Amino acid sequence: MKASSNSQYHYDRLRAAFQTDKLWPEGTTIRYGFLGTGNQIPRTSTADLEDARTHGGVVLKLDPLQKKLEGVPVTDAIRRIVKERVQPLVGLKFVYVDNPQHANVRISFDPDGGAWSLVGTDCLHVKSKPTMNLGWYDVGTVLHEFGHVLGMVHEHQNPKGDDGHPNPIDWNDSKVYAWASQTQGWDKQTTEKNILSKYANNQINGSEFDPLSIMLYFFPKSLTLDNEGTHQNLRLSGADALWINKMYPRSSETPQVFYQKTYGEPLATALAEGVAAQKSSTGVSKRTMIILVSIVLGLIMTGAFAWWFMKRYRRKIWELTKK
Ligand SMILES: [Zn+2]
Repeated sequence: MKASSNSQYHYDRLRAAFQTDKLWPEGTTIRYGFLGTGNQIPRTSTADLEDARTHGGVVLKLDPLQKKLEGVPVTDAIRRIVKERVQPLVGLKFVYVDNPQHANVRISFDPDGGAWSLVGTDCLHVKSKPTMNLGWYDVGTVLHEFGHVLGMVHEHQNPKGDDGHPNPIDWNDSKVYAWASQTQGWDKQTTEKNILSKYANNQINGSEFDPLSIMLYFFPKSLTLDNEGTHQNLRLSGADALWINKMYPRSSETPQVFYQKTYGEPLATALAEGVAAQKSSTGVSKRTMIILVSIVLGLIMTGAFAWWFMKRYRRKIWELTKK
């Protein structure tokens, strides 16, 4: 079935954000290895994740690997996640190496270091040191960090396709600074860089913002002026799968086959869910507002003109009709 032009527009706009100058060349072999065993980091409880909800109370969809890999050592779990969630979608080759010094992607497990990763080919600019840290383990976090390895940036900083749409997140800056300092230990500058700055400089296309992306952070609603927070996600969204594959074609599986096989859902359904979530999270888009305001202004001006015209020429019209 052919999608209506409106929803096709949304599908096209609903893209994961990639830093294009950091993409790996087609066919690159990425070697990854571990700095340590991962036994010392806490594992997010699956029960907690099963309870995770959006602000609207909708239960978030869990990646089936979360349960399957319960009790599996962290490093083995990561290898399974790369093999079953990343590799099938990309025309790149991920190879595990025992000696991390032979790896481009070196993963450390510092429980106090948070979870982070260098973006795309930035991994090549660092020697010996970690390019990724996992301060805790769950499948969603591993997927998120490997999203960075593929060149993806945080969804809340999605700077792509500025065509007049507003940033869907209406930050309360001073609360964000306080929150980031308290929860992440970030100073003002780091907070600006990691949360606020892109929004100030590059307006985000609201319809491109994917509320289901694995690259979206959790932000409490108290940090925004409109009391709309964001929620984390626990598995790849339809747009994530589609756009990862677009960036790295010639994969072993199409995103359609991958999504159906992995999440038991057609990719088209997952994309439609993303569009629906986008509508409910951003409310009325700015574009719609502009169109509505233009129509109303147009009507008012037409009315005013008609009133002026009638007032000015009433007598003449009256005289004309009399003749
Ligand atoms: Zn991240």
